[in-house]
Parts: sequence; C-alpha cells; structure tokens
Amino acid sequence: MIANYHTHSRWCGHAVGEIEDYIRTALSEGFEELAVTEHVPHRGDPDNHRMPWADFLPFNKALNKAIEEYGDRISLLKGFECEYMPERMDDYRMFREEYGYGIMILGHHIVGPDHSIFMFARNKPDYAVRLYADEVCEGLETGFFDFLAHPELLLMHYAPGFDKESERSLRQIYACCEKLNIPIEINGAGYVSGRPYPSAEALEMSKEYDLTYIINMDAHDPELLTKPYYSQVEAFASGLGIDPVPRYFADRH
Ligand SMILES: [Zn+2]
Ligand SMILES: [Zn+2]
Repeated sequence: MIANYHTHSRWCGHAVGEIEDYIRTALSEGFEELAVTEHVPHRGDPDNHRMPWADFLPFNKALNKAIEEYGDRISLLKGFECEYMPERMDDYRMFREEYGYGIMILGHHIVGPDHSIFMFARNKPDYAVRLYADEVCEGLETGFFDFLAHPELLLMHYAPGFDKESERSLRQIYACCEKLNIPIEINGAGYVSGRPYPSAEALEMSKEYDLTYIINMDAHDPELLTKPYYSQVEAFASGLGIDPVPRYFADRH
C-alpha cells in the first residue's frame, strides 16, 4: 500500500493520536501519499461524532504545521469526510475553497430528512437502508464528492443482512458511482474489526459494474497504517479479484 486517503486523529474525539503520529507511521511504512480527512465539523455542533465547530481553526493550524514539517517527504493532502446534507454544502465549499480541503469524501453516517438516523445505531429502522442509498446518490449527483467511503455502511446493524432490500440499495449506489465515475472505498477499519463492511457479497456483485476501487484504512489509530493491518485488506481485495488503484489522487489535486 502506498497511499491512504481516509485518516482521522484525536481531533474528532473518537480516534487516538496526533496528526503527526499518522504521518510518521505512513512515512515509516513507505507511503507516498496521505490524506488527512477528519469528520467534517458541523456548525452548531448537533452531534458529538466530530470535532466541535470551534476547533476547526486550531485543527487547521495544526494540520498546516504538519504539512510544512513533513510535506517534502510525503505528499500530504487535506480533506474531510462529510455527510451529504444540502444545507451544509456552503460550509463544505468554504473548507475547500478558502482552506484548501481538496479531498471531500462522502461518508454518509446520518440519514433521514431531519438527519435523525445514525447508521451505526442498533435500533435504526430497516428503511434506513433505502434512505441511505437515495441520499448517497443525491449527494454524489452534486459532483462535489471525490469518492464514496464504505458504500456498504447500510449493512451495519441491518438484521436481514444481504437481502433483496440491501442488494437493491447497493445496486442503486454502484450504478450511480459507475455513471458518475466515482471511486468506491474498500474500508480497512471495517475489515479488521469484523464489521459488515466491506462486504464480500456486495463487492462480488459490484464487479457487474465498471467501478474504480480504493483501499483506505479509515485509520482512527496510527497502527492501522501498518502492514499487519493493510496487508489483510489487500489480500481480501485480491481474493475477490479486485484490483484497487494504488495512488488515486496523484496529480489530481
Ligand atoms: Zn470516525
Ligand atoms: Zn472515516
């Protein structure tokens, strides 16, 4: 593995390690490119899954400092992992245009017209699977997002598992990614912790579409950027006959 485009840090409140710890690990593993992509802050702080809005400026300063310090040894990119929420797109655009957050990942963790359903909630309704697909596709249609994180997040705590309903939603998402030429992620954090994503069944089915795949560790701990972890995910992908792009963003940003 030579690049990772999905990296968190202690700033989001549920990851460990400073930004520099992830960069140093990436360097010692011989990575050529690393994107730091925290959960995007939301004005008004409606939930605690991300850094408080007021932390953005100090976070940005710390990230710029790290880029200054290490940027000559590894290509370091700024980005955010974002839920698609139409009313927040102006803030997302501000991060991109005014602060240089060039990689915007769609990581759609919250669904529903009032953003009340958390995809990780054990008791979420089964129809969240359909909402998720509709909202993901609507978000991708904006053209704002660079790739889709963990497409199979809809399987999280969805008791029926890979059934007709989740298959339909996943097909909807894959067709949309194919049409818009948006890469999908094979999520390392999910794989190493035994979550329902990435899903071998779903990925097998995804091969019916013309898709680009990126392996990302979704690191919430610098350890995840080390070989014992990422080599498992690489083996998983190659076992499915999937050939992910090694360095997707080179020369793009
Ligand atoms: Zn996270
Ligand atoms: Zn993430």
